[in-house]
Amino acid sequence: MKKIAIIGGGISGLYFANILNSEKKFEYKIFEKKNNYNFQEGYGIQLSVNSIKLLNNIGFKNLPTSEVSFPSKVNFIQANNSKKICDIDLTQFNDQLNQYTTLKRSTLLKFLFQNIPQEKIKFNSNIIKIENENGIRIILKDNTREEFDYLVIADGIFSKTKLFIFDEKINPKYNLNVALRGKLTGNYGGDISIYMGSNSHYVIYPINQNNEYNFVAIIKKKLSSEELKNYDLFKSDEFLGSLRSSLQKTSQVSFENLSELKSFPVYVSSNFPNLNKKNVYLSGDALFTFPPSFAQGASQSIETANDILKSILNNSNEYYQKRIENISSVNNKSKFNHFSFHLSNPISVFIRNNILKFLSKNKTFLENYLGKIYRT
Ligand SMILES: Cc1cc2nc3c(=O)[nH]c(=O)nc-3n(C[C@H](O)[C@H](O)[C@H](O)COP(=O)(O)OP(=O)(O)OC[C@H]3O[C@@H](n4cnc5c(N)ncnc54)[C@H](O)[C@@H]3O)c2cc1C
Repeated sequence: MKKIAIIGGGISGLYFANILNSEKKFEYKIFEKKNNYNFQEGYGIQLSVNSIKLLNNIGFKNLPTSEVSFPSKVNFIQANNSKKICDIDLTQFNDQLNQYTTLKRSTLLKFLFQNIPQEKIKFNSNIIKIENENGIRIILKDNTREEFDYLVIADGIFSKTKLFIFDEKINPKYNLNVALRGKLTGNYGGDISIYMGSNSHYVIYPINQNNEYNFVAIIKKKLSSEELKNYDLFKSDEFLGSLRSSLQKTSQVSFENLSELKSFPVYVSSNFPNLNKKNVYLSGDALFTFPPSFAQGASQSIETANDILKSILNNSNEYYQKRIENISSVNNKSKFNHFSFHLSNPISVFIRNNILKFLSKNKTFLENYLGKIYRT
């Protein structure tokens, strides 16, 4: 039986473990740094049909419908005057079984975690070295070492373990934006709304059927390297307050009702590492971290994990290599979304709004821009 080590029990690592559960030729172990999961956390996540299809294969459709939401539209709104510009119908990418879904990130993690046998996940893992000559050896701080045939590195954006394997420094870079996340309660409808402002945008969507909504704003902000290292800054009431007040107010959203506010700097990848290590795969944000303006990070993480298993089963890296091409395309689209959501010059805004009105109803464009990603 071949042994697979999965480093990181986040969305990508746990999904990979779930699909391995039905592969009798493999056994696996997850090494997770945290000592447990916080299944109470209230922030949201959007999942497009490309990942929903894969999740439904492992039973996601059996989640109680009260814990998920199925938005049918994305509304584009100009934040400074609260005017809706247009919307995109998301249902055109759905099929009978698979629908665009929003939910709490913790609901997704809980679902993915429930099928992992206790002995297959090692919490509080502190990996100090990985050797990959003649097999793969993981060495932990307590001096235990274990041998594996395959290694899947899924320890997120600041992956430390990939530095044990890959020589180049491929650290993600601060993309000059800060994310502000929070929870809203009330009635903001069943759809996703994107409010586009000057040098910022924010998104609101339901995370269940109980009138709970995710709020996430992406705000342009130059920060010094000292400020970026200062974790207390991002938690301070003063900083959170200043981010909140920098957003353009609308009559539809009351920022005073925001709770569980958190901020963090947005880091993104600029390059892929040289992926030529035998039997070693990177997945999720450890492979590539996108700007969050296409809501594709988790969906791509799930797809990559799926392609890694196909590559292992077929003893060929074809699927994995192809995924990398897709990731580059999603990255370009994420950057373009970000640019157009943040325009500030009134003439550019006017032109953007008119183009958006046209494109949002243009089937050929939508098929190329979204369909190619959502229907992979
Ligand atoms: C503001 C914002 C909004 C977003 N919204 C969306 C969205 O709506 N839809 C979407 O699809 N994506 C979204 N994303 C992206 C998405 O969250 C990520 O792409 C996704 O979580 C990546 O999954 P992952 O498994 O690679 O990493 P993670 O989910 O970060 O998991 C990594 C895991 O590895 C563990 N770990 C870390 N270091 C070690 C170590 N040394 N040893 C062992 N374990 C370790 C961590 O504890 C964690 O459990 C958003 C991102 C941001 C920043």
